[in-house]
Amino acid sequence: MARLVMKFGGTSVGSPERIKNVAQKVKREVEAGNQVAVVVSAMSGETNRLVDLCKQIDPVHDQREYDVVVAAGEQVTTGLLSMALQSVGVKARSWQGWQVPIRTDGMHGKARIDSIDGSALIAAMEKGEVSVVAGFQGVGPEDRIATLGRGGSDTSAVALAAALKADRCDIYTDVDGVYTADPRIVKKARKLDRITYEEMLELASLGAKVLQTRSVEMAMNHRVRTQVLSSFADQPGTLVVDEDEIVEKQIVSGVTYSADEAKITLVGVADRPGIAAGIFGPLSDAGINVDMIVQNISEDGKQTDMTFTLGRSDLDRAVALLQKQEKSLGWKRLVPDRNVTKVSVVGVGMRSHAGVAHTMFKALADKGINIQAITTSEIKVSVLIAADYNELAVRTLHTAFGLDAE
Ligand code: ADP
Ligand code: ASP
Ligand code: MG
Repeated sequence: MARLVMKFGGTSVGSPERIKNVAQKVKREVEAGNQVAVVVSAMSGETNRLVDLCKQIDPVHDQREYDVVVAAGEQVTTGLLSMALQSVGVKARSWQGWQVPIRTDGMHGKARIDSIDGSALIAAMEKGEVSVVAGFQGVGPEDRIATLGRGGSDTSAVALAAALKADRCDIYTDVDGVYTADPRIVKKARKLDRITYEEMLELASLGAKVLQTRSVEMAMNHRVRTQVLSSFADQPGTLVVDEDEIVEKQIVSGVTYSADEAKITLVGVADRPGIAAGIFGPLSDAGINVDMIVQNISEDGKQTDMTFTLGRSDLDRAVALLQKQEKSLGWKRLVPDRNVTKVSVVGVGMRSHAGVAHTMFKALADKGINIQAITTSEIKVSVLIAADYNELAVRTLHTAFGLDAE
């Protein structure tokens, strides 16, 4: 007997038929003698619809009321799946975040989970009842509903698995595992049987939306055995594991991209101490994350160019903030650019192999793709390129690192 958390994403619960299919999958685990808690997302498209309603009322709405609206999608699926389970003879009940309770901080719209009291769910599981828990939501410090950021049901599931001391957290989705690249873009992508926590964390934070980044952080910190698998097929998926559980280490395990990037170049900035602090201080105070930074050495020791990247949704705000600094810091031109994408290669094998960056740059150069900025860490290399080349670059690198399926 094992204790399992099963999470079903939007596509998996996208229609009454699909919810009935999920009920059958849950029933099979219960009949195999397992204790089961289920986490569900909203039906596919529903969260987007709710977000859009908020924007239509007021583009700069109260985030606490936004959370009330967007959390509603998950409430619907908990009720529907509980009914579906009951109708096939499985004892089940729905739980909203506040009922568990799943306590979060007060950052409405992108709250973090502080704690989960698993005792009521454990009691339910021990009497053979399946708990169907709403993903994506919890309750904030002022007892108001809070949501965990887009894709947050993954994090709900892993956090619940940690709180319930589950043997495994199964993330059921519309692909049958984690691939060497997004299978929607790279037809030759291969499914990985296993991937390390560290690689999965890099892939997620560099754009692979198959798992929310925080869910991987949580799995890594609490050593939750996490599996990504298909809700439409009956086969094992990809296990996220410790590095020592992987025998044959690839130099590069995956290629990913993030199209949510933007770039700002400040042309002709004074080259003196305090300039970088003056530029990035106000951005960080406003909660704007800056990622890649490139600063040239000035030929005359007086002026230089500074380029950096940030999330595309923060671009307008960043430009407005910088314009306020223009008098004190001074530059010749501020050039914003939305037409960029970040492409990355990730692999723990890079720690012990030189030459990954060179292979990457050469492969891109051979296709005439210009690199605008570069960042590296121990297990990844990222480049910023023009957005038009995104898919070509991902496919090219997939081939260059020998990842294509036969
Ligand atoms: P869910 O609604 O089940 O949470 P998501 O849409 O959030 O599903 O995540 C699954 C999607 O992630 C897939 O349909 C796929 O297009 C995308 N994806 C991006 N990168 C990868 C990757 N490396 N491996 C698998 N899927 C990926
Ligand atoms: N329904 C939420 C979203 O679409 C959470 C999730 O699906 O993980 O972002
Ligand atoms: Mg998701």
